[in-house]
Amino acid sequence: MRISPQERFEAKRKVLGPNECWPWLGGRSGQYGKFWDGKQNEGAHRFAFFLANGYLPKGCVMHACNNPLCTAPHHLIDGDIRRNTIQAVQDGLIATKIPIAQVPAIRAMSRAGARVKDLAEMFGVSAAHMSRVVRGLRWGHVADYSNIAIAA
Ligand SMILES: [Zn+2]
Repeated sequence: MRISPQERFEAKRKVLGPNECWPWLGGRSGQYGKFWDGKQNEGAHRFAFFLANGYLPKGCVMHACNNPLCTAPHHLIDGDIRRNTIQAVQDGLIATKIPIAQVPAIRAMSRAGARVKDLAEMFGVSAAHMSRVVRGLRWGHVADYSNIAIAA
């Protein structure tokens, strides 16, 4: 029986609580985790992002937790979205909304002590909008991964 890349991946990361980092236990390349996806070596955090979101950003996948070995989906940020949002603001376009998939990572950064003002700047939206995202008034239905089963 063939084992899927996802199964191999899950065997190499430690799934912890909804507010914790999920450390990569497999091989490394520099400070990042490394994973053979069947075609190429991919960053473990990038593969984790792909599993959670169904796509891979062209640019980087960033860590909300500053922990390069973390593969927790709620700590991973699409760097393209951040850059595109900032670019739109610089181009004088209306500040775009924050993509729903990024809300858990933003809330994680907030819980870790990031200020609303800094998060707003990072994603190129108003502080008022970011404040609503952080406090859950927008996308209050986002699961925040708190209902994910925790591995024994
Ligand atoms: Zn983390």
